[in-house]
Amino acid sequence: MPFSELQNELNRRAAQGLLRSRRTLESPQSPHIVVEGKPYLAFCSNDYLGLANHPQLVAALQQSAAQYGVGAGAAHLVSGHFAMHQQLETELAAFVNKPAALLFSTGYMANLGVVQALVGKGDTVFADKLNHASLNDAMLLSRATVRRYRHGDMAQLAQLLEQAESGRKLVITDAVFSMDGDLAPLPELLALCEQHDAWLLVDDAHGFGVIGEQGRGSLFNRKSPPAPLFQRGVSADARVHHPPLQKGGRGDFDLNSPRIIYMATLGKAAGVSGAFVAAERVVIDTLINHARSYVYTTAAPPALAGALLESLRLIAQGDALRVHLQQLIAQLRGGLRDLPWPLMPSATAIQPLLIGDNRAALRLSDELRERGIWVAAIRPPTVPQGTARLRITLSAAHSAGDVTRLIEALHELAC
Ligand SMILES: *Cc1c(COP(=O)(O)O)cnc(C)c1O
Repeated sequence: MPFSELQNELNRRAAQGLLRSRRTLESPQSPHIVVEGKPYLAFCSNDYLGLANHPQLVAALQQSAAQYGVGAGAAHLVSGHFAMHQQLETELAAFVNKPAALLFSTGYMANLGVVQALVGKGDTVFADKLNHASLNDAMLLSRATVRRYRHGDMAQLAQLLEQAESGRKLVITDAVFSMDGDLAPLPELLALCEQHDAWLLVDDAHGFGVIGEQGRGSLFNRKSPPAPLFQRGVSADARVHHPPLQKGGRGDFDLNSPRIIYMATLGKAAGVSGAFVAAERVVIDTLINHARSYVYTTAAPPALAGALLESLRLIAQGDALRVHLQQLIAQLRGGLRDLPWPLMPSATAIQPLLIGDNRAALRLSDELRERGIWVAAIRPPTVPQGTARLRITLSAAHSAGDVTRLIEALHELAC
């Protein structure tokens, strides 16, 4: 058995400062975690609204488990599709103003399923070079021709679309880039897709719940006042429908196009687990029939859907959380302006500090940890060579005092 070969590969990784390992949490996810017996102030979860340990979600999960049990017991297409899954799909579709939605067990599986169901040999996928690994894997698995464009480079994308052979065209992009925190130019992407009759798959793992009115995500990055979603006095069962969002107004985008296939994850801001795809009915029916990562897997526990229904309510009512998060982002950016390491240009909760060298990034992360502060060092291949970084993520559960502590620690370490 080639064990020594495997060990040599691991040793090589370690020598480059690239070996990965895990730390074990002994507390719920929150800004204040206990890891291997020690308390830390943490800036590395994607729990942007602080919902992962919210008492109302815990209660909803317990209640749904009492009602439906634990396991789904089968795939959705066999006998694992429960009323709670169905209700969640209906509410998610309404929330993002799409005709239909479909739950997946994880975002990784959603991306694999969508791309593979929509394109294949003879078709072409166009992808931003900084897309999430799951989108990259999805396009390779689909066997479509792959064309990658420089990060955010719409001129290059236009050129590649121009050159594409016949067959279906699918443009895929992160809405908020997961390791950089910057935003994809969605209106420009949609315009190019219109021009070249392409589909646009938007992966909003880091936008859903955080961006847009009521946290509806990156397609709703508009300034006009929100339409009420959950009206006061309306019972939980009757809150499925709401009128479509109004268009128009200053600074709005209208990203309500049928050619957009919207994907978002439910384990980040939503604080639970899973993902959904929202699109035209015919696209969802295609996924139900052809997305292998949907068809050939056991449905997620229905109780998770119960917790997610509660999460959706908290997201919609969470404008105060999102305002607080924005204030923390401004505080952090102001406080880290004069460090030797540049903050990357990001207006979102993902605030990477660019270090460059792998070992320097690890060292800084270790030194913060000695001070009781947890920030993950992100290294290649997750990010391009030479761009190792501290990926600081903020959550509405942080206080201004938490952010001050991080700013002060980084200034100390910069001396
Ligand atoms: C986290 C993430 C995913 C994967 O979602 P999971 O539910 O964690 O599998 C997909 N795309 C992006 C951009 C992500 O950040």
